[in-house]
Amino acid sequence: MEFLCIFLLQYEKGCGIIGMRTGAKPVPYIRINLRKGVFNMKKILALLAVVALMATMLCFAGCGEKAEDEVLDMATNAAFPPYEYKGDDGNFAGIDVEIAGKIAEKLGMTLKIHDVDFDTIISGVQTGKFDMGMAGMTVTDERKKSVNFSDTYATGVQAVIVKADSTYTSYEDFYTGFGDDGNPLGTKEGIKIGVQQGTTGDIYCSDEPAKWGFGMSNVTQYKTGAEAIEALKGGKVTAVIIDNEPAKSFVAANEGLKILEGKYTEEDYAICVAKDKEELLNKINTALKELIADGTVAQIVEKYIPSDEK
Ligand code: GLN
Repeated sequence: MEFLCIFLLQYEKGCGIIGMRTGAKPVPYIRINLRKGVFNMKKILALLAVVALMATMLCFAGCGEKAEDEVLDMATNAAFPPYEYKGDDGNFAGIDVEIAGKIAEKLGMTLKIHDVDFDTIISGVQTGKFDMGMAGMTVTDERKKSVNFSDTYATGVQAVIVKADSTYTSYEDFYTGFGDDGNPLGTKEGIKIGVQQGTTGDIYCSDEPAKWGFGMSNVTQYKTGAEAIEALKGGKVTAVIIDNEPAKSFVAANEGLKILEGKYTEEDYAICVAKDKEELLNKINTALKELIADGTVAQIVEKYIPSDEK
């Protein structure tokens, strides 16, 4: 407690001392001669006033802590349009940002967004630096070992972006052939896949070809999807594999790119919360349920991904 108060009435000495912070010089100093039975009304009133002041200060200290508790710290990576990005005005925008705002509203909390690298979100949530992670984050069994996930609020698929003049028609073209079990036998010479570090695109692509990956040595990780796109434009990678909605945004914003037919994977998006914050997770789930039921989530999604473009 910032304001550690001591309130001492030294009857023996016949004086009252009110001090703030242990060890600090007692302030203010009021003398009341109790033994003599002299009750100076003015002094008693002054003492009461000081007590009231102390109580107010304690309340402020307490209220300060409460205000801090009322902040919902959300970690995201604001380079993932239309789920999270920074608008032209410099403010955070996107589906996750708006849904999180509504959740915070329902929880009576103030949303505070922290823009961090995607691959630091889970550890930040685990250590309590952030209350939740919301970043178009896919639920995976591996991640479930570290954090808990809310109910799903959206689905995503990993899409494959290539240069518009590419002769590849599907990611299956990146493999040399398929075995009797239907799984790829190997990756064609020179295939290089760009991914965003730590994402499911990265995890699945880095796997071995027999598991529909491309082998770690054929995968280049970039800090953001935007950097992977730059690498694709510069001819450093054959394709970028990334979630479909950001993929559409990147293709719309950059000339000379296209998305190949087919889905590399299908995934569920959810909010992650530390394992020991079950109460918060329950509150988030209740809020999410209400926001889904009353159409708020659908409205927000429609705003960013109009159904005629889906
Ligand atoms: N859905 C992907 C994942 O969870 C990518 C998320 C992101 O880059 N923000 O790994």
